[in-house]
Amino acid sequence: MTKLHRRTFVLGGLATAGAVALSGRSAQAAAPFPFKLGVASGEPDSSSVVLWTRLAPTPTNADGQGGMANADVAVDWQVSTSDSFSSLVASGTVTAHYADAHSVHVVAGGLQPDAEYYYRFRAQGFLSPVGRTRTAPATGTFGTDLKMAFASCANYENGYYTAYRRMAEDRPDLILHLGDYIYEGGAGSGVRQHLGAEIVSLADYRRRYAQYKSDPDLQAAHAIAPWLVVPDDHEVENNYANMVRADNSPALTAAQFAARRTAAYKAYYENMPLRPAQAPSGNSIPLYRRVRWGQLATFHMLDTRQFRDDQANGDGWKVSTAADDVNRTLTGAAQEAWLLDGLGQHLGTWDILGQQVFFARQFDASGAANMDAWDGYRASRSRIQTGWVNRAVRNPLVLTGDVHASWANNLKQDYANSNSAVIGTELVCTSITSGGDGSAATAIPNAATNPHLKFYSNRRGYVLTTVGRTQVRADFRSVAKVTEHDAAVSTAKSFVILDGQPGLQAL
Ligand code: FE
Ligand code: CA
Repeated sequence: MTKLHRRTFVLGGLATAGAVALSGRSAQAAAPFPFKLGVASGEPDSSSVVLWTRLAPTPTNADGQGGMANADVAVDWQVSTSDSFSSLVASGTVTAHYADAHSVHVVAGGLQPDAEYYYRFRAQGFLSPVGRTRTAPATGTFGTDLKMAFASCANYENGYYTAYRRMAEDRPDLILHLGDYIYEGGAGSGVRQHLGAEIVSLADYRRRYAQYKSDPDLQAAHAIAPWLVVPDDHEVENNYANMVRADNSPALTAAQFAARRTAAYKAYYENMPLRPAQAPSGNSIPLYRRVRWGQLATFHMLDTRQFRDDQANGDGWKVSTAADDVNRTLTGAAQEAWLLDGLGQHLGTWDILGQQVFFARQFDASGAANMDAWDGYRASRSRIQTGWVNRAVRNPLVLTGDVHASWANNLKQDYANSNSAVIGTELVCTSITSGGDGSAATAIPNAATNPHLKFYSNRRGYVLTTVGRTQVRADFRSVAKVTEHDAAVSTAKSFVILDGQPGLQAL
């Protein structure tokens, strides 16, 4: 039995003990256990972290309300330095509102920097499972080496969340999720099925999150560490760009798609451990943000969906011309300026871009490129790369999801010139499940036209990094199967990136 399994078992015992201890309140003792979606934390800074839960005794009810009555509920929360909660360092009570599907976002403050904590909730006479979280190092300090895992793309129908479970067992300090946390499609023919048709309404999105979050492996990954999340397309709809849809199925008017975005972003916020500053407003949600990890690293979390300004994403793979993309932007002008300003501040040793779509060039032999990636927005990519070169950014590191395969890439000042300098590094995580088991293929697609692409693997998994003062180590963690439970994890490949020396060093 691993440590994590034992912990989960202990936490189950705690919940039961809490229910018994509080069963004197007879009206509430009759209520069913409300913490079936687990707990989560996120957005750590050096003195606070967001604690999340959502009350849902029957999570997948079609109305999206999880079996909760139309009434607000008081939720107590506690933070301790030990998982026995023998003494508390912070505690309080918040209200879970029916209008927010009984989700809560507690900003637990007054914490010590670079420290580990445990947290739990209590509502309706029940104790929640216990989560582990931590704070960032203080400004100007490096803290201990940061063990950070990142992942994306977890289509529930394509497989079991073994990779989330293995990630939790690695006990990272921080987890980045780079999008496609849910998929919007209706019930299909995978190893397990989505409930209901393609999701469009707020009730639909809430129910879909509840189905995903009922998974114990996903709950384990949330309970082990704080997360930093950004959505990609499937949290709303496949390959959408700003208000433009890649296809019109189901048929929706512009106003109906705006309403769908409103529903999708509200449900995203409700179900993620985001700070109140990220709460949506109508059909937009303010997601791009910086999260500092002391002097060691700065996470620039990007939004490459809401501010795209053209329709290239509907083009699939095609040969893009300079005239096509010179005016395009993937980030919007304001986010681009914000990113370059932040990079120019040299806030920490590593400037880490947490973002969604493939960054390095990956043309095929005919020169065709993926229009739902930075290749479709070459001028936009060039402005950002040139921007960090001109600002003498020491260690730019781009983290990417979306493509359902692992890649490791050198970023080049001029991709058309093989002698051009390496000016950064990109690590692309594979999917948690999307695409199913994958294959044993490791030959780099289109290697001849892309000598800067150094690694490819078509298995499912995640990337485990160790961010230190002198290097970042990246271990590509891989599971052989997701269509069966409990596959083992192994490291398919490891690289290091040295401080002051952009690019991959193979181990
Ligand atoms: Fe995906
Ligand atoms: Ca995607």
